[in-house]
Amino acid sequence: MAFLLSGSDVCRLTQPSPIPNPYWVAISRSAAKLIGLNLGDDGLPTDPKWLELLAGNTLETASHHFSSPISTVYSGHQFGVWAGQLGDGRAILLGEIQGQELQLKGAGKTIYSRMGDGRAVLRSSIREFLCSEAMHGLGIPTTRALSVIGSDLPVRRETIETAAVCARLAPSFMRIGHFEHFAAQGNISRLQELAELLIKEHYPQCASHPEPQLELFKKICERNARLVAQWQAVGFCHGVLNSDNISVLGLTMDYGPFGFMDQFDINHICNHSDQSGRYAYHRQPQIMHWNMACLASAFMPLLQRRYDAKEAEVLLRDALDEFPAIFADEWQSLFRKKLGLIKAHADDIKLIERLLQLMHDSRVDFTTLFRQLAYVKKGQAVDEISLRNLFIDRPSIDQWLHDYLLRLDIEDENDASRRNAMHSVNPKYVLRNHLAQAAIEKARNHDFSEVRRLLKVMSDPFSEQIGIEYYALPPPPDITKVAVSCSS
Ligand code: AMP
Ligand code: MG
Repeated sequence: MAFLLSGSDVCRLTQPSPIPNPYWVAISRSAAKLIGLNLGDDGLPTDPKWLELLAGNTLETASHHFSSPISTVYSGHQFGVWAGQLGDGRAILLGEIQGQELQLKGAGKTIYSRMGDGRAVLRSSIREFLCSEAMHGLGIPTTRALSVIGSDLPVRRETIETAAVCARLAPSFMRIGHFEHFAAQGNISRLQELAELLIKEHYPQCASHPEPQLELFKKICERNARLVAQWQAVGFCHGVLNSDNISVLGLTMDYGPFGFMDQFDINHICNHSDQSGRYAYHRQPQIMHWNMACLASAFMPLLQRRYDAKEAEVLLRDALDEFPAIFADEWQSLFRKKLGLIKAHADDIKLIERLLQLMHDSRVDFTTLFRQLAYVKKGQAVDEISLRNLFIDRPSIDQWLHDYLLRLDIEDENDASRRNAMHSVNPKYVLRNHLAQAAIEKARNHDFSEVRRLLKVMSDPFSEQIGIEYYALPPPPDITKVAVSCSS
């Protein structure tokens, strides 16, 4: 983004700080393809300079030269409170390749690092890498992860860990926080440049609209409303939905203490540091809406160039008020598909909500339940449906299954085609915390096989993959729950 917006109030030239003896932890072939980077049979770039580049140790490969790496400034609301200026404290944007910005996270201090060391640890880098690519595999908009490069450089967190650099790709890493920053500064011309840039590069359809900036605001809201519905539909909790972690392109970004739910709990809090549950599963839609309200405030000065304050406020408020309906529409459509319902029926929402309530009451595994639901056959006797055994309240689930079977009778599809359709939207494999944790523990001993295996499994999450049933299962009861916090 900031390539076209230069100026020391927007970004600063920032050299990555080298790491000693870098080594490959993982690289994503499909992300590499996005930038035309070919990998050899060993799964690595043929040009060894790429290891140095993605470690932050050089700015040159045989094919690319990045002359002006930068870090950008943004501000934001963290846990509902205005945090003032933040910025890329440990992310350095090298440049753009084939429409993708290439950013190194953990590449050392920037002028926005504040008290931080500019580094990221191996653990959090592997989590971000795997989840970015898993999310892409699920078909959910996300920033991508190209690679993780490790080093034995010690990094102090609660304990001493080692450093890693995660290379990320996105058409733009612009956040709500970028707009909030210039609005807070009262820098209207910068604000306007940001909006114009965003329209030109990423929302060209807004340009011909009579009110391009209002239209841009609506489109950003719409993308993020649909995004959060997609998270809900796979049981994903982001963990830190601060406005500086929200993309203006509607991409999932800044993977930290995220979690895919195992046992369904609508109040699930995946971030150990989130004591009040601000970012609990069921609150994600309203929090995303709240973040859009932060964006609306930042857009006020833009609209005030043509309208008085009252009119601008009404226009933005009306646009913001569309969020819940867009979210609900997307949510309903996704959950209908999850249940194999192609026709829309007025009572479907009640049916979906009753199932979720029963799953919550019995803490049923979110992912496996929807996968199993696809095996229900039209006309089947309720007491032959084995998934009823997962529920404590047997009479209620039996009543639900009875109603579901009646509802399926309205559908024209036969059992096999409904099952295929359901399996194409209900993943078999998601990046469960215990799986990521096992890969991290091996990686700490320089064994990266499990990271690479998970990358492969999660890149094709809807297909039955032979011989890897373990990756589809909920965590075994003897596995202690992985606690993830903001520390990264
Ligand atoms: P996060 O919670 O990871 O989104 O980070 C919030 C802010 O703190 C962002 O501006 C980050 O760039 C910055 N930050 C996080 N960790 C570090 C670190 N180790 N060094 C410098 N800045 C950091
Ligand atoms: Mg962040």
